[in-house]
Amino acid sequence: MQKHYLTVEKLPKGTLFRSKTPGVTITGYNSGKVLFQGKYAQQEASRWGTPHTTPANFQDDQGLPNNFAELSVLGSDEVGTGSYFGPLTTAAVFVKHEYVDTLIKAGVKDSKKLSDPVINRLGAKIMQLCPYHVVNVVPDNYNRLVKKYNQAQLKAICHNFVLNKVLQKIKPTQPDAILIDQFVRPQTYFNYLKEQTVIVKKGVYFKEKGESYHVAVAAASIVARYVSLRTMDQLSQEAGITLPIGSGNNVDQVAAELLREQQSLAHFAKLHFKNTRKAHHIAQNKLE
Ligand code: MG
Repeated sequence: MQKHYLTVEKLPKGTLFRSKTPGVTITGYNSGKVLFQGKYAQQEASRWGTPHTTPANFQDDQGLPNNFAELSVLGSDEVGTGSYFGPLTTAAVFVKHEYVDTLIKAGVKDSKKLSDPVINRLGAKIMQLCPYHVVNVVPDNYNRLVKKYNQAQLKAICHNFVLNKVLQKIKPTQPDAILIDQFVRPQTYFNYLKEQTVIVKKGVYFKEKGESYHVAVAAASIVARYVSLRTMDQLSQEAGITLPIGSGNNVDQVAAELLREQQSLAHFAKLHFKNTRKAHHIAQNKLE
């Protein structure tokens, strides 16, 4: 191509050749990429065969492969993001094609729609049937990590971590696709991972409400909640009071109670939430 297109102007950095024909500018880069721009870009490019398009995993608007719901998919999801008390728990679950129907029939769906006993039953079943990995960031660790990363970045790091762990566990098997329950744009997600040594990128798709595209994401949300529930129970036991989920007024009251008892909030709660300030306010007013 370089021989075909005579360079007509000074070359910008990183380019190998650049040429202009009526209606098209052609730029060849050192990387091997060739860019056709202008009115007749398509026709000119087609002289060289079928164009190579950008892989789907970098685009925001992603089309999933055909029959996606039936494929062997590694899915990931997290719980605890919006809850003041308790951990941030992220899970990845690999659901093989042959288990898709089994899990759907067993009632695996978005964990938010399931009661605690059902979470416990299904969580145990999924963990028995499918390769999985969980990272459970308890408040002590969360409060330390969130000073270094913002919450979305911390989530991205957790997703990447659990996905990689499961990929290692199932080797040499590879999933047909990986589906992340989307919480930021794909570009942002990968930007957050820049400093990670291993970045799971190949075959990765992002979808909001990921559980409606493949049962693997629903399974991941159930496993995450299963582990999260256990941690909540344990923390409640240590606190000597049932720690509520969410971030509403009842949460402020319980946090204030812990403060009055001089317990360490950092051990039970995500301190950067507004609830911390409210709890201090309540605790102080009651003292006066
Ligand atoms: Mg989610």
